[in-house]
Amino acid sequence: MPEPILPASPENPIGGTRIIIKARKAINRQLKGVQKWLLGQLTGIPTNRITINSSVYEYQISPFALESIVRELRRRLEDPQPGAEVLVNRTVAGYEIGTAAAVTNLATLTTDYTRTITSVLSSDPWQRRVALVRARVFEQMQGFAGETAADLARVLSTGIENGSNPIEVAKAIRARFDVSRSRAERIARTEITGALRRARWDEAEDARISIGIRTLEMWLSALSPTTRASHASKHGNLYSVQFVREFYSSGGEAINCRCSQVSVLVDENNQPLSTRSIDRAKRAKGRYDKASG
Ligand SMILES: [Zn+2]
Repeated sequence: MPEPILPASPENPIGGTRIIIKARKAINRQLKGVQKWLLGQLTGIPTNRITINSSVYEYQISPFALESIVRELRRRLEDPQPGAEVLVNRTVAGYEIGTAAAVTNLATLTTDYTRTITSVLSSDPWQRRVALVRARVFEQMQGFAGETAADLARVLSTGIENGSNPIEVAKAIRARFDVSRSRAERIARTEITGALRRARWDEAEDARISIGIRTLEMWLSALSPTTRASHASKHGNLYSVQFVREFYSSGGEAINCRCSQVSVLVDENNQPLSTRSIDRAKRAKGRYDKASG
């Protein structure tokens, strides 16, 4: 009985590092551009320093002009180019890679599975699934842009209203951008690894429904010091696609998760037809448990 094809690097089962880096770079470039523009706008506002007990700065800007800065800020952040656009495309690339991995694995496991990567990628169900992936990421990025714009507008307006030192306002704006950058990074990582994972579940599920290929998902964790106990404990165990979907649908399970699931063939009683990979995974889990005490 053939064994499933396991991820290339056991310490990062889900992979996708390169496409995550590309997406992150594009989003960072956009945020850097907006940051530079906003700080330029702040510097461009003339101020009078008034000293009573402590220094207060009077900003020479009309409410109307401030509003137009905020409007332009929002427009620049919500522009899908390049941030959201790149993330959507990279996530779709992740979904494609995940599908290809599922197709290759299922074709190795059984001759009943005769689909090719090309035939799957051009099929209607796959195209529909990708459309959902696109919509989901786009929505996430719209939300991110909207919240970032609102937070920055608040930092800017409050600073001006309170008469804060422009140097302090600039510092607060930079700090707010830092928060956005790490949030964007988390979205990129979560969406791309999520797509890599979901693509495998979707194809396994479709193969079960349309062709009758019985599989369960073998859980593979990174087994690193940062792996959550509830993820590491599943290493080498078999689960239904439905169980795995439900697990990830709750809360922040997908955030910073490097786990992957790989389909293995099972009989009518859900017993695996080959156990070599499963046994090896369980032994690795045993060593991990011993090492982490
Ligand atoms: Zn995990």
